[in-house]
Amino acid sequence: MAKKTTKKAQPALTKAQPALTKAQPALTKARIFKELGLSARLKGANCGGEWFASSGDWLDSRNPATGELLARIEQADNADYAKVMKAAKESFLAWRMLPAPRRGEVIRQFGDALRAKKDMLGALVSLEMGKILTEGQGEVQEMIDICDYAVGLSRTLSGPTLQSERPKHRMMEQWHPLGVVGVISAFNFPVAVWAWNSALAWVCGDSVLWKPSSKTPLCAIACQNIANEVFQANGLPAGLTCVVIGKGSSVGEVMINDHDLPLISFTGSTKMGRRIGGVIGERLGRSILELGGNNAIIISDKADLTCALASSFFGAVGTAGQRCTSTRRLIIHEKVYATFLQKLIANYKRVRIGDPLDPATLMGPLIDEGAVADFEKAIVAAKKQGGKVLYGGKVLKPFGVPTFVEPTIIELKNEAEIVQTETFAPILYVMKYKKLTDAIAMHNGVPQGLSSSIYTDSLAEGERFLSAEGSDCGIANINIGTSGAEIGGAFGGEKETGGGRESGSDCWKTYMRRQTNTINWGGEIHLAQGVEFHP
Ligand code: NAD
Repeated sequence: MAKKTTKKAQPALTKAQPALTKAQPALTKARIFKELGLSARLKGANCGGEWFASSGDWLDSRNPATGELLARIEQADNADYAKVMKAAKESFLAWRMLPAPRRGEVIRQFGDALRAKKDMLGALVSLEMGKILTEGQGEVQEMIDICDYAVGLSRTLSGPTLQSERPKHRMMEQWHPLGVVGVISAFNFPVAVWAWNSALAWVCGDSVLWKPSSKTPLCAIACQNIANEVFQANGLPAGLTCVVIGKGSSVGEVMINDHDLPLISFTGSTKMGRRIGGVIGERLGRSILELGGNNAIIISDKADLTCALASSFFGAVGTAGQRCTSTRRLIIHEKVYATFLQKLIANYKRVRIGDPLDPATLMGPLIDEGAVADFEKAIVAAKKQGGKVLYGGKVLKPFGVPTFVEPTIIELKNEAEIVQTETFAPILYVMKYKKLTDAIAMHNGVPQGLSSSIYTDSLAEGERFLSAEGSDCGIANINIGTSGAEIGGAFGGEKETGGGRESGSDCWKTYMRRQTNTINWGGEIHLAQGVEFHP
C-alpha cells in the first residue's frame, strides 16, 4: 500500500526551492578572482608552495574586451627558473617510483577539482583571453576529459613481449618515466594545452615545468593553484607541477636550451616553432611541435549544405578565428557556390559581437591590438592581391578599445600570398572548384597541414579525401568541420604545423623512455645472428 505523504516531509521540499529559483550571481571579476585565489598583485613562479619572483619586472594582464587592468604579475627571472627546475627534478625522483595507478588516482582527484571549478575557470578564460563563455567552459571540459583519459592510461601503459631468436631467452619492451617535461603554450588555449600535456606527463611519471603565454598569466596561476591543492592533499613532493611566468626571450630561451628538459612540448606560431625546434634539435632533445594551421573545408555539390553551413560558420567565426583549427579557407563546388555563400553571409550578419562573459555573445574580441593590426594588414594585402571583401573587414570598439573586428569573408585565389599565410583572426577566404582533383590540390596547396574536412554525401568522394592521394593534414574529417577535436585522438599536424602529436591514441609514448630488454634464463650464451666467438 502506498505510504501517505506526511506533512512533515513537505517543508524540506519547499525549503529547497527558493535556492533553485535564486538568480545566479553575475560572473564578476571579483567573484572569479576570489574563487580561483587571484589578486591584484601576484608573483610569477611556483613549484608547489608559495608564489615567488625576484625580477622586479611586472607584467600587466588586461581584459582584451575593455582594456581594464586585471592584475600585475612580477615575472620570473633566471634565478627563479633555477629554483623551480631544482624542485621539478627532485620531485621526479620520487614520483617516477610511485605505481602508475596511484599516479592515476591523483589525476582523478585533479579532474574532480576541475569539475568543481569548471564555471569559474571557464569564466576566467573568457575574462583574460576573450573567448565566449561556452567556449571557455568547453576548454575546461577538455581538461577534465584528458584527466579521465589519463586515469584509464594509468593501468594500460604497456609494452609488448617479443619473440627472441635465441633459445630460452625472452624479449620485452618497457616504458619508463622520462624526466621533467617542459610545456610552452600559446595564448589561445590558455588552460587546456597545459592539461593535455600535464595529465599525460604526470601519469607517465614525469614532472612538469610550464611557461604559459605572457598574454594569459592569470589562467596559468589559477591552474597551478588548483593542481597545488590536489598534490598537497596527497602529501606529494613540491615540484611535480611548476610554473614560470616570464619573457620568452629570457626564461623561454633558458628553457629551450636546458638539457634537464628531455622533452619540450611547444604550442605556438610556426615562426617561433622553427626557432624552438631548431634549438632543441641542436641539443638532441625531444620536442612536440604544435604550430600554425591553414585549415580548409571542401564543400561538394553532393553535400548536406545545412550541416556544411553550421560547421563553416562555427569553424570560421568561433573563438573569433583564434583557434589553430579555425576554418580559414572554403573550397566550394561551383554549382553550390553562390547559394552557399548567400546563406553564410546571412549568418555572419546575425553574429552578436560583444562581452565574452555575456551568454548571448557569439564573438568576443581578439587578444590585443597587435592581433587587430595583423587583421587589418591581411585585409589590405588581400585586396592588393585581387581579393574581394564579401562581408566584414572593419575594426570595432564596443567598449572603447579597438580589439574587436567584424568576421570577414574574402573571395580570393588559393595561390595568393596572404591565403598561404595563417592570420590569427576571423578571416575566411572562399574559392570555387569544378573537379575534386582540383579541390584537393588547392586544399593541400598551402605550407601548413593541421586540420581538414570535406562535406559530401558521396562515399567515393569522402574515401578519396581520406586516401593517400587525399588530404595531407594530421586531422581529416568527413561531414564535420575543421575546428574542435576530441581528446581521444592524436592531435597535431604535418608540414609547417610541426609534425607533433599530443593528447589521445598512443601519444603518451612521447612522454616516456622506451627500453628493450632481453632476458636469458637458459644458462648458456647464444650470440644473435648465429655469430660464434670462442677463445
Ligand atoms: P607565439 O608563437 O607567439 O607564442 C607561443 C609561446 O612561445 C608563448 O608562450 C611565448 O611566450 C613563447 N615564446 C616566445 N618567445 C620565446 C622564446 N624565445 N623561447 C621560448 N618560448 C618563447 O604564439 P601565440 O600567438 O601565443 O599563439 C598563436 C599561435 O599558436 C598560432 O599560430 C596558432 O595556430 C598556434 N597554435 C597551435 C596549436 C596546435 O595545436 N597546432 C594550438 C594552439 C595554437
